[in-house]
Amino acid sequence: MKYTSTRNKTVSISSSEAIIQGISKDGGLFVPTNIPKLNNIMDLKEMNYKELAFIIMSKFFTDFKSNDLKNCIDKAYDIKFSKKEIAPLVNVGDVFFLELFHGPTLAFKDMALSILPYLLKEAIRINKIDKEVVILTATSGDTGKAALESFANVDGIKIVVFFPEDGVSEIQKRQMITQEGINTFVVGINGNFDDAQNGVKEIFNNNDFANLLYKNNYILSSANSINIGRLIPQIVYYFYGYLTLLKEGKIKNNEKINIVVPTGNFGNILAAYYAKEMGLPINKLICASNENNILTDFINTGIYDKRRELILTSSPSMDILISSNLERLLFHISGEDDMFIRTKMDDLARQGYYKIDNLNLKYFYGAYSTEKQVSFSINNMFVKNKYLIDPHTAVAYNVHEKYKLETCDDTKTIIASTASPFKFGSKVASSIDIDVKNKDEFNIIKELAGKTNIEIPRAIANLENKEVLHENNCNKENMKYLIEKFLEVGGIDD
Ligand SMILES: *Cc1c(COP(=O)(O)O)cnc(C)c1O
Repeated sequence: MKYTSTRNKTVSISSSEAIIQGISKDGGLFVPTNIPKLNNIMDLKEMNYKELAFIIMSKFFTDFKSNDLKNCIDKAYDIKFSKKEIAPLVNVGDVFFLELFHGPTLAFKDMALSILPYLLKEAIRINKIDKEVVILTATSGDTGKAALESFANVDGIKIVVFFPEDGVSEIQKRQMITQEGINTFVVGINGNFDDAQNGVKEIFNNNDFANLLYKNNYILSSANSINIGRLIPQIVYYFYGYLTLLKEGKIKNNEKINIVVPTGNFGNILAAYYAKEMGLPINKLICASNENNILTDFINTGIYDKRRELILTSSPSMDILISSNLERLLFHISGEDDMFIRTKMDDLARQGYYKIDNLNLKYFYGAYSTEKQVSFSINNMFVKNKYLIDPHTAVAYNVHEKYKLETCDDTKTIIASTASPFKFGSKVASSIDIDVKNKDEFNIIKELAGKTNIEIPRAIANLENKEVLHENNCNKENMKYLIEKFLEVGGIDD
């Protein structure tokens, strides 16, 4: 299996090289040259998460030796996860929540980031690289902490995380700035997630900077969802969710299901699309957005228009206007037309929008939820079912309600439940009528636990007394300079 670039099809590299490089030099994203089919899927229903993970990942990471890949999987999906199923499926009302937030940082990013360091170390070994790897990451809140947690104190690797100072939840921020590990570096930037992401992309595309690092024995890599080392592990849980339904007798062999994904950078839902292309019986992929509804508009009109203000919502991990992974979907559905992708991405960079005529996204449905609808959904779910959902998951739940009203489709449905409600305490608490005015986040969380009788996850309870270890803050223009300082490499002029 080879990987190519969405913007240049002459690129042909192995999976381990794609994991190390993160993003292609032409600005494109790495994609598998074909999406492998999985046969006899229904026979896999007795497999546990790790066994299934191996079946799926070995189709994509073909230059890893079986035993080495098994080792990576073993180390990733262990007791770091508080549930033995790793991704439990919970039936509430007429839907099934696939709970992806039982990892160490309480968001679905752990599902892939818990394995990425092991994949990367193995990839470095396979390619006989004798440099130190610097992981450079922009975060809308959850990736940052999940990456810090998984890469902290891994030798041979340093990790730098940029987060938007005012664009993450109180808990998300505290999780990051209290991060331990001498190889970690956390910086708040004055701007939003797109600023952070663009800054990071510019650094990746800066050849002089790459050379400077190279001379100092470093190479750059990425832990963002543009890295295939994140995308591929995310395919696993869609199979796992489906097979759990099958095993529990909730669906018949080969019965189609719908999947709803609260979407930001389009990574998680793209993994569901890959699962479908591999043969998983999926009817609709439902793309749920918050008030930053750029993907809803795109799915419904074929116009991707970022000329709008980014709105800060209670689902900050979806406050994104440039959904990077959409580029991969467009590459696949355009018949792998790299020139077409280059033109569209150029349009987006130059004029702020692109338009695709006769866009055929028949497997996709897109809608969005307002802040009010998010609160209402959290409230309704709790009052009716005593089940607490976070604002991202509430966006997905609400969009599914809209989908049902509009289509009368009663296909069994899995909703990707992407974060613990305690990570977004004040929104969740106020939605279920707890007075949060002038209260400290940790007190709010305690009240939330009291009212709902749900235990506060330990990773959050511990945060209150943790020391702040990172107080860096900068403007977008200074990101490169701060990295130079952290790595102690001499600066370059530009
Ligand atoms: C990152 C994140 C999302 C969005 O996932 P994408 O892969 O960026 O679409 C949704 N919910 C939560 C809690 C997240 O952390």
